[in-house]
Amino acid sequence: MRLILLGPPGAGKGTQAKLISKKYSIPQVSTGDILRMAVAEKTQLGIKAKSFMDKGLLVPDDVVIGIIENRLKDDDSKRGYILDGFPRTTAQADALSKNLKKMGAEIDHVIDIEVEYNELLKRLTGRRTCRKCNEGFHILFNPPKKEWICDKCGGELYQRDDDREETILKRFKVYQEQSAQLKDYYGKNGRFFSIKGTGGVKGVFDRIISILEYDNS
Ligand code: AMP
Repeated sequence: MRLILLGPPGAGKGTQAKLISKKYSIPQVSTGDILRMAVAEKTQLGIKAKSFMDKGLLVPDDVVIGIIENRLKDDDSKRGYILDGFPRTTAQADALSKNLKKMGAEIDHVIDIEVEYNELLKRLTGRRTCRKCNEGFHILFNPPKKEWICDKCGGELYQRDDDREETILKRFKVYQEQSAQLKDYYGKNGRFFSIKGTGGVKGVFDRIISILEYDNS
């Protein structure tokens, strides 16, 4: 199964991708995670990407397209994957489509998760992530037992630099200007679905599963 999750920052794409990945044993492919790892390792890619990410801007298309093309060649992608945070521009979507054609593959479902700005702001400012195992927490909705410590592995929790209020507004604007049109791009295709991203993690997951299990278009 090849799935694309669309939606603004904070819609819950990463959270849902992890659950879907577990249920169907296919990898979550997150360009944001790949870039953050490169930033942490201070690779050439990471140094270049950081200047864009810290400002809430998109990393240039050619860079992320290259990352995805390499990642989708990995063995674990053969049975499918969940794209989380890619594509984010129509140029990325076109490149993905060309790449898939070359590989004789296609996207099975595109699911757009809708959440309003005020809710996104609340979600993003409270988000915490484990440096070691990447587990996600939220200070209001899913707090760790001990502040700044991961329940799962004991690693240190951190707040993403781009989850500060001033950067969130910029990221949301960038989403509206450069990514929201992907809904029209994929909306012309029968495999596009828009769902509400509210009502709890389990509620959203159930909506996604009903699409994945019952959509045979
Ligand atoms: P995310 O974790 O998906 O919210 O991504 C965090 C940041 O990484 C974004 O604000 C961008 O700066 C960068 N990024 C992630 N995915 C992409 C993409 N597909 N295109 C451009 N920049 C991206």
